[in-house]
Formats: sequence, C-alpha cells, structure tokens
Amino acid sequence: MGIVTEGLRPLFDDLKQSPVIIAGPCSAESEKQVLEAAAAIAGCGVAIFRAGVWKPRTKPGGFEGIGSTALRWLAKVKTETGMRVATEVATPSHLAEAVAAGVDLVWVGARTSANPFAVQQLADAFAALPTEVLDRIAVLVKNPVNPDLELWIGALERIRRAGVTRLGAIHRGFSSYGSNLYRNPPKWAIPIELRRRLPGLPVLCDPSHIGGRRDLVPSLSQQAMDMDFDGLIIESHCHPDEALSDAAQQLTPPALGELLSSLVKPASADVSEELCSLRRQIDSLDDELLELLARRMQVAREIGRFKRAANMPVVQPERYNDLMHRRVESGVGLGMSYDFVSSVLSAIHEESVRQQVELSAPDKA
Ligand code: PEP
Ligand code: MN
Repeated sequence: MGIVTEGLRPLFDDLKQSPVIIAGPCSAESEKQVLEAAAAIAGCGVAIFRAGVWKPRTKPGGFEGIGSTALRWLAKVKTETGMRVATEVATPSHLAEAVAAGVDLVWVGARTSANPFAVQQLADAFAALPTEVLDRIAVLVKNPVNPDLELWIGALERIRRAGVTRLGAIHRGFSSYGSNLYRNPPKWAIPIELRRRLPGLPVLCDPSHIGGRRDLVPSLSQQAMDMDFDGLIIESHCHPDEALSDAAQQLTPPALGELLSSLVKPASADVSEELCSLRRQIDSLDDELLELLARRMQVAREIGRFKRAANMPVVQPERYNDLMHRRVESGVGLGMSYDFVSSVLSAIHEESVRQQVELSAPDKA
C-alpha cells in the first residue's frame, strides 16, 4: 500500500452500485435543462448526476458555464430525484462554493490535473475544509490531458495527502494531434498501469470525452467494463444537438438508458479452470517470445562484429526498409494490425542497432 491507497474509503459508504454510474449534461445551461435532464436520467439507474458549472474552454469566447447560480439547480436535483450531485472544481473558490451548495462529489478536470500548481492549490483548499466535510466529500481526479502517468499519480497523491479519503480516478483519454477515430485516444495501457500501481483505487472511465462522438460511447463503455473499470461517467442531454458544450458526444436519456441496460459487467472473481489454462499458455508463449528475442539479439551482435571487422556502417537503410516492408506484410497476413506489427518490429530493430553500436563503443572494443 502506498501514499495514495492507504486508508482509502469507498466513494460513498451506502453506495452499493457496481459499476458506479455518473451521468448528466456536460454543462448546466439553465434550470429547466438541468431539471429535465435529471428527471429523465434518474430512472436509468444513475446514482450520481453530473453537470459542469465552470467550464474550462480551449479558446475564449465559448460558453464558460453558468457559474455559482447553477449550484442551486444541482441542489434541487438532489432533493427532487434523490441522486447525488457532482461537478468539476478547478480553483479553491469553486471548491468552497460547491461544498457550501452541498455537492457530494467533485472532480478535478484534465486541464487542471496537468498543472501541479493548480492541483496543489486545490489540495490546500481540501486540507482546510472542516473535518466533517473532508470526511464525506468524494473526489475524482481525471487524467491530465497529456499521457503522463506520473503526473496523474502526482495529482492523486497531492489530493490524498490533503486528507481526502474518498478518492478515485477518471480515465478520459489523452489529447492528440491529427486525425484520429477518437477525440481523446484512450491509450488503455496507462489506466491499466495506474490500476497496477494503485490497487484498490476506484478507476472510472469517461467514454464521452474519449469518443467525442455519441455513436462511440456504447462500445467504449462496454470495453471499460471488459477491462474491469469500477464505473462510468457519461454525458447526457435531452437535446444534445442544442447543447452549449460537447454537443456531438452527449446521449439522450433514452439512449443512455439503453446503453446502461445492455452493459455486461464480467464476473471478475470467477476465474474458471479454462481461463487458468489459457493464462498458462500465455505465460509460456511469453517465455518463448523472450527467449527468441534474446537469440535474435545474439545474432544481431554477431552481425555487428562482422560489420565492424569489414568496416561497414551499422545501419543500412535499404536493408532496413526492405526487411520492415516484408515483415509487416507477413504480420498483417497473420491477422495482426499494421500499426502493431510496425511498432513491435521497429522496437526490435532499434534494440538491435543499440546492441551493435554498443559493440563498437571504445570500452567494449
Ligand atoms: C467535462 O467533464 O465536461 C470536462 C470538461 O472534461 P475533461 O476535463 O475530461 O476535458
Ligand atoms: Mn464535456
């Protein structure tokens, strides 16, 4: 157990829901919009209602949220529907206002978690809360916009050190440049590694901000369940196309209801004999792969010695291009993706070159 996970408690003691479902509009836009969405969502099996009150926007001039007034609408949602309520906080004054309005869960957004100064200011504000508030408030930290696991863990650590014990993380994908299927590509290896490093920390998935398109949200949600995430945070709006932020990715409440009722959460505790045997096969295949790679490197070093004796350069681009082309083609023919085969082969090639270059370094010569 480390600094983050020691002494963690559930997000809410009486919340038995698994996976935890948080849903609601990207932004609170008007009292009518918030209450309509809440009434429609309450029947879908949603435990916690979300709505952004202060919106971090990429460029000035966009809708930056209603601000404090919207907190009163969230308080109304709570009394009218019985759902808990959640919003994003980015500054100490957001936190103070959200707490005063009775907000049950706050999350730290992806732009904030990328900035250690901002996170530390929030952490100091958490630390200054009265004990009974610190004791009840749930806090989720989104991954930073850039794919930096240590920065994400650092943000969690700052908030945990402030005395927050009802803590969790949200995976919302990572910013990228150029055309992509996803608005924020998920890079699943990062949240998986987060779970390995911080066992016991609840990790939710935000398929709305990963996908950026409503048609991608159901399959991303199921993928998160298959990977054993602890919950989902999904954006939902009664009239998505008219939404003032993130219009393309919000689901109508009926579509949200359909998604939630079709989700399959794998029974993770039930590890059958068949699964054990498949895992053994994977283990032994991995052993074989490592042995083969080590043998390949041995041959590469022999080639390196040969090249050095013959005064040849280590890298010969035509040979490399030819080899990559043929190998990638065979890999694709064997049913693997082009991207996967190219990245594995270029990693292997890079290591071969490194080993050959090392041979010619003066201390090895
Ligand atoms: C949001 O949840 O509406 C939001 C602004 O998310 P993120 O911080 O992930 O961009
Ligand atoms: Mn949003």
